[in-house]
Amino acid sequence: MSPRPMRNSNKRNDPVPAKGSPVVSEPIPLKEGEVVNSSSGPQLVRGMRDILPSEKRLWDRVWRASQLEFESREYDRIETPIMEEASLFQRSIGRVTDIIEKEMYVFEDPGGSRVALRPEATASIARAYIRHGMVSLPQPVRLWYWGPMFRHDRPQAGRYRQFFQSGAEVVGEQHPVVDAQVIMTAIAIVRRSGLDPLVSINSTGCKMCRPQYIEQLVAYYRTRRSQLCQDCKKRLVRNPLRLLDCKEEQCKSVKGEAPQIVDSLCPECKDHFVRVLEYCDELEIPYQLSSSLVRGLDYYTKTVFEVYERTEGAGRQDALGGGGRYDGLLELLGGRPTPGIGFSLGVDRIVNALKEKQTDVAPGAAIEGAPQIFFAQLGEQARRQAIVLVERIRQEGISVAEQFSKDGLKGQLERANRLGVRYTVILGQKEVLDGTVLVRDMEGGVQEIIDRQKLVEMLKKKLAT
Ligand code: AMP
Repeated sequence: MSPRPMRNSNKRNDPVPAKGSPVVSEPIPLKEGEVVNSSSGPQLVRGMRDILPSEKRLWDRVWRASQLEFESREYDRIETPIMEEASLFQRSIGRVTDIIEKEMYVFEDPGGSRVALRPEATASIARAYIRHGMVSLPQPVRLWYWGPMFRHDRPQAGRYRQFFQSGAEVVGEQHPVVDAQVIMTAIAIVRRSGLDPLVSINSTGCKMCRPQYIEQLVAYYRTRRSQLCQDCKKRLVRNPLRLLDCKEEQCKSVKGEAPQIVDSLCPECKDHFVRVLEYCDELEIPYQLSSSLVRGLDYYTKTVFEVYERTEGAGRQDALGGGGRYDGLLELLGGRPTPGIGFSLGVDRIVNALKEKQTDVAPGAAIEGAPQIFFAQLGEQARRQAIVLVERIRQEGISVAEQFSKDGLKGQLERANRLGVRYTVILGQKEVLDGTVLVRDMEGGVQEIIDRQKLVEMLKKKLAT
């Protein structure tokens, strides 16, 4: 048996005791989860941590919330390896970013290949999409993942070198309704985990309009160069968009008066952003516009967002998650031009927030298997109402498939047939006007007109038989 660890007087969490520090010789009883500075046994690598059974219940809660929300929205789970060619991340995330310059675990494997521990999953999923010809599947392809990521960050509260993300990618669809639905999925997971989410949102434009904005930004920051921190002086030359991300006090006032990217968006990006916000309004997503939100990865285009916990009077907190659109990434990695959007939630941070709130575990029932109903819509008005109705149905634990980015009813009904759902709810222009929906029994083809207020109850009854 290994000797009982002794607590020494070195106060750092770093397990290596300071030179010459006195060691208390009495063994002290430990609480579960407490880290002991012991030099007698194997050490935890700095920035890594164990997840102990007492904490695991909260982790399972976030897992269940993720599984339920993703599966009820027709996401399939994908697992990619934790190790990839280093060049995959360099090409996608961008060489002049903190992750690539400072934080990636890169090394040569015994065969001499330069490999990296994944710092995030989007690049791996984009690679898998291309490699496995997912472009020939019905689009969009919706994938979700859960797993450890690695960044050689400075360890501190909420910042670890191995951390877990629960995330998703929707590849092959550029319609703005998808952006709002992806954001909705992220906040639904955070909510189901037991927190109160708030979204920060911005648009970073596209390769047509962003360069012009960057020129404006650089011109403005040059006039204020003497007020900038050392890092920002470098960013001004190497990666100007990241100037907007600086947290240093001295740069804040400069940032406050900087030109805003939303004023420079091309008509297409502007229209996209406005429509995303309209869909977010319809879905009652709690969001705030954040003109300085740019995020740390180069591949983002158009919509970017972060999720925080809504707390009153608190200072700036760390984001629980973030994501955005990446319409150029697949092409950059050698695929066909294919739009995509995704997000990742930091599970460690969600669990920390739950612990702070002293949340107990109340697991939700998991939905298994195929979606129970399909929701078809016809026309823009119907789409706006349908996205809200579908969320309401999902909140009642009914899994719903849909294709809100498509317009034709025929294609939607074909999809409903392929999925083998028992019922399809149809919301057309007539139903928009009279406050009803059609519920179609997919076996017999019989359609009933149902008052929208009674829809959820009626579906529950039908599905229970
Ligand atoms: P990113 O991939 O940088 O957009 O990060 C997405 C989410 O992952 C963040 O909002 C955090 O919740 C989480 N995250 C990122 N880096 C870390 C880290 N070093 N430790 C813990 N969580 C992290």
